[in-house]
Formats: sequence, structure tokens, C-alpha cells
Amino acid sequence: MAKQPKADAAAARLKALVSELMLIPGLSGYEGRVRKRLAAELKALGLMPRTDRLGNLIATVEGDAKAPSVMLFAHMDQLGLVVRKIEANGLVRVERLGGVPEKALPAQAVLFCVGEGRDVPGVIANKSHHATAQDEKYRVLPYPELYVDAGFGSAAEVLATGIDIGTPIVYAPQVTELANGRLAGTSVDDRAACAVIVEVARTLLEAKKKPTVHVVFSVLEEFNLRGAVTAAQVLEPDIAIQLDLILATDTPDMMARGDVRLGGGPAMSLYSFHGRGTLNGTIPHPALVKLFGDTAKAEGLNLQKSAHIGALTDSSYVQLVGQGVAAIDLGFPMRYSHSALEVCDLADLMGLTQLLAAGLTRIDAKFSLDRDDYPS
Ligand SMILES: [Zn+2]
Repeated sequence: MAKQPKADAAAARLKALVSELMLIPGLSGYEGRVRKRLAAELKALGLMPRTDRLGNLIATVEGDAKAPSVMLFAHMDQLGLVVRKIEANGLVRVERLGGVPEKALPAQAVLFCVGEGRDVPGVIANKSHHATAQDEKYRVLPYPELYVDAGFGSAAEVLATGIDIGTPIVYAPQVTELANGRLAGTSVDDRAACAVIVEVARTLLEAKKKPTVHVVFSVLEEFNLRGAVTAAQVLEPDIAIQLDLILATDTPDMMARGDVRLGGGPAMSLYSFHGRGTLNGTIPHPALVKLFGDTAKAEGLNLQKSAHIGALTDSSYVQLVGQGVAAIDLGFPMRYSHSALEVCDLADLMGLTQLLAAGLTRIDAKFSLDRDDYPS
């Protein structure tokens, strides 16, 4: 009987934390404000978070030392821009940081992150429509042609605010509640997963039987996909579970790519690969595919499946640490990735939390990662 109010409280907490995290700027390499907020959450749970030299935030939930240990991680950073050049007239030219979609940039509000309480708003210019020639109408402007207007009239005025070459810029933080428990806004990727991990840690702390689980909020994912590697090198986990968005494919432009519905439940990636200079991806360990498949069945959860190329996560690199780490990518369906208005569904985040909380407690001393126990 007590289960429903408990689930309602968890859903309310999750929604509040996701919304709060979405509003905190944290460009790759500048994750400090997000880290500070998450460290406070971990401390409130009674954990002792620590930070490594790259900026990863790590906390350990101790469990059965005979069971394989787990690193459960999601990235704190977000993509964005940095100041490349300040023009004499006060307009600012930018450089991309991460997979920034240039066609989604003009007419966006942005924020120059010069320091908490001192950030400076700006807008990415969009040429006046009345002066747009026919052949310009459907052309995407390469980012070097864009500029940010923050209202200043000279370079000196810009510099006086603390903005300088290299200053981080993010989409102006925003969150909007849509119908049916859906959220739209900035950095759903991957703050939604950060909030899920906090909820999972809370549940694990109450569980009697569990493996040791290291929760890691990682840095630099949008920059080089390798920030989590230093955490894995120190923690030497047997299992790595990475949480991030899974592309929702239930909009007209995505139908041919798969069968992942927003609101259809948490999702598991069976195959990811990125070839453009990266040559990496993740084919999950069969023990983990079985574990989460079985868990979803037992919990009555619909576990959606994804397999596609074009994207990857830092599990690709974490799996290669030491003697090899059994890895899997789990996540929540999300629409409009890397735009300023990404969309997720809170029910999927709750489902992901439930899947992880239940799945992790099934990892005991008998849990085998021996490949020969999983004939292909
Ligand atoms: Zn991400």
C-alpha cells in the first residue's frame, strides 16, 4: 500500500532535480557548478563525494565485496560555444565545442559564463528577414559566419564584463513543462541521467543486498568522450553502466531509424558506433543484456531497444580500461538532441530508475561475466 506514495515522492524529487540541473550552465571543461550541486545531493544522502583532477565527481555505495563491482555513470557537461574573437564593434565570434547543430543556432538566446551571478546574456544573430534574399532562405550558415550580440558597442565594453577569448557560452538555460509529464529545455542530455543516478543511489543505500556501486558524474563527454576513463582507471570496476539519451524515433523525421518511443519506457543500446575519426562504439556485454532484460520482465517494465551508428558514449573507452570492463549503455528516449529544446518524458526516467535499482541488486557473488557462460 505504501508503494504508490513512495513512487509519487520519488517522481516529484526526480522532476525537481532534473529541472534544477537543466538550469545550471556546465560547458565541457567548466562543469564546476553542476558538480557542486550534485555533490550536495550526494552528501545529503550520507555519501562522501570526491573529485579527481579532471573534475569527475565520484562516490561509492559499499556492498558485497565478493560481487563484481559496478561503475554507474552519466556526464555532467553540456555542449556549447567559446569566444573566438571580439570584434571592435562589440559583436562576438564563436568557436563550437561539441556536436553543436549549426542549423539550430541562429536566433537562440545564449549565456556567457563569466562567473556565478555575473553571467552575461546574448543572442545569436539571425539576419533580418526583410533583407534575406531568396537564395539565402534555406541556407544553413556555417558557424564562423554567425556572431553573438550581447548589446555592447565596443570591444572594451565586452572585456569589462569579464568576457574574453575562451569564455564558455551555453544555450540560455531553460526548462518548460509540456503535456503528459514531458520536459523540454537545455541539457536534458545528460542532466536527466545525473538526476536518475541520485535516485538510484538513494534506493541502493536502503537495499540490504547489493554489489559495491561507484557512482560517477563525469566530465568532457561532449568534448572527447573520455572524461570518465580516468575514473574507471582508479576504480577498476568489473562492470560499467553508462546512462545517456537514447534517440527517440517516433517523430516523422526519425521513423526509419528504429522503434524507440518517447514515453515507451527506458531503453538499452545493443549497438553503437561512430566512424568519423573516432572508430569506436559499444557492443554490450551479454551478461548485462540478459540482466536488464530479465529485470525489466520481472518488474513489468517495457525495455526498448536501440541499435544504430552515428553516436557513441564514453562507455566505448571505459570498456577498454585494465583487463576490460563489461559495459552497457542504458538510457531514456529523447527527442531533438543537442538543440536548446531537448525533450524527455519523466515516466521514462522513473522507469530507468526502477530498472537500475532492481537490476543492480541482482548482481551478486554468483553473477558471471565469463564470456563462455553466454554462448552466442
Ligand atoms: Zn550525452
